[in-house]
Amino acid sequence: MLTDYHVHLRPDDPDTDAERYFTAANAERYREAASERGVEELGVSEHIHRFSAALDVWQHPFWRDSAIDDLDAYVAFVREQTDLRLGIEADYIAGREDRMASLLDVHEWDYVVGSVHFLGEHAVDFDDALDVWRHESSAERVWKRYFEAVAQSALTGMFDIIAHPDLVKIWGSARPQPDSDPRRYYEPAVEAMLAADVAMEVSTAGLRKPVAEIYPSRAMLEMAVDAGLPIALSSDAHRPEHLAFGYDAAQELLRECGVSEIAVFERRERRMESLG
Ligand SMILES: [Zn+2]
Ligand SMILES: [Zn+2]
Repeated sequence: MLTDYHVHLRPDDPDTDAERYFTAANAERYREAASERGVEELGVSEHIHRFSAALDVWQHPFWRDSAIDDLDAYVAFVREQTDLRLGIEADYIAGREDRMASLLDVHEWDYVVGSVHFLGEHAVDFDDALDVWRHESSAERVWKRYFEAVAQSALTGMFDIIAHPDLVKIWGSARPQPDSDPRRYYEPAVEAMLAADVAMEVSTAGLRKPVAEIYPSRAMLEMAVDAGLPIALSSDAHRPEHLAFGYDAAQELLRECGVSEIAVFERRERRMESLG
């Protein structure tokens, strides 16, 4: 079994309106790409900040600019016009847990992908004035805050999969790196994921980013495997050609780290299936 669950039906650009991308024909393009690459379990997980209902959770300027689409219409489209699993990528926003939980509770998802992109008002993956690196004193501070947020995200119980679990490394050598062994940052995050009984995502999206490395690092994956965490596999595709991108490398890494099963989701029930 191969899965691709953390998948977007459109690029993140602002002019990618729902009418053009939430269509049966577009879903079919993704389904065809998945079939070609041997991915049986395919689902979508649009960014929550692209839906107007997200503004009930958080009024961040970036969200206000992008929260346009109707969440109910997305859910109805996936359920009625496609054979894809229905997911959503929802942010962990500190202090907004109850509001996010209320929003997520309205719909019957197959899975909810939980992500940490923001630390306070600033993002770890933005290359602009909102970039957290322009507002923090050291790499140690950014990494510590990031992995603490990952731990908190797991402990909310809102999420089934913790996405790109070391996204903070996205810029690679283009941003400061912590001097010390990063395992000290991973440890509380892995412990929290275990306590919360959530799956940790292995994402090939990092291969397409400056860091050019799978999320998470081998050291973090080894720690997760030692702890007995369930692993979910996705590409974070934003176009059909990204589907299952780098899966040969991901499968090699997973096998080397002793992962033989991956998590499969339906109506928020998790089961494990053989990898490959
Ligand atoms: Zn993300
Ligand atoms: Zn994503």
